[in-house]
Amino acid sequence: GIPVNTFESSMRWAEFKTNENGLVPVVVQDYKTMEVLMAAYMNREAFENTIRTGKMTYWSRSRNELWVKGLTSGHFQYVRQLSIDCDNDTILAKVVQIGAACHTGNKSCFYRDLVKKDYDETNPMTVFENVFSVILDRKEHPKEGSYTNYLFDKGIDKILKKVGEEATEIVIAAKNPNPEEIKYEISDFLYHVMVLMAEKGVTWEDITKELAQR
Ligand code: AMP
Ligand code: ZN
Ligand code: ZN
Ligand code: ZN
Repeated sequence: GIPVNTFESSMRWAEFKTNENGLVPVVVQDYKTMEVLMAAYMNREAFENTIRTGKMTYWSRSRNELWVKGLTSGHFQYVRQLSIDCDNDTILAKVVQIGAACHTGNKSCFYRDLVKKDYDETNPMTVFENVFSVILDRKEHPKEGSYTNYLFDKGIDKILKKVGEEATEIVIAAKNPNPEEIKYEISDFLYHVMVLMAEKGVTWEDITKELAQR
């Protein structure tokens, strides 16, 4: 169960600047990853239903009807935050997306690039999350020849020994004039820490939450 909240808005619909059809565009983001999922329109009824039920509700321009997102697909969007922009003409929603936002099955409707710079600016935290989810997956579905599974099979003492060794190797690498070394050793260390996290049931969310509140 993902909690569904109901809300009271600090602004009334009448204060928004609607377009000529009485609609306001809504940009929808995943509240954890900030990924932009879709854009759609609300009319007054859709807005008020969204606030009242905590489920994103739009006005479908193609079907000309109130549209509770997910009603037929099951891909509901649970409201976590609604914001209005500087000139009151666009709503930003942060949601928990069940399944995919897009009716094509893509998580986001924006899966087709028109232009793109050729280097990648990946958020480092998504790399941590991705590696960690592979480690969790190995734990659940062991894979032949996997070093991660070797560590899980050997157990907690082996994992702790590796964490200790890799920490020591960081210290040694830091004294080494070759600047590449420390990069490898910190990566080794972080991987083994993630194996330990998986073994102990600690998530990156637990860690980042703890760090952010210090
Ligand atoms: P749903 O609200 O997910 O149950 O989908 C109901 C219908 O809404 C689908 O059959 C599509 O026609 C349409 N639809 C769903 N998601 C989207 C979307 N992200 N953008 C545009 N149309 C959508
Ligand atoms: Zn502005
Ligand atoms: Zn605006
Ligand atoms: Zn779509």
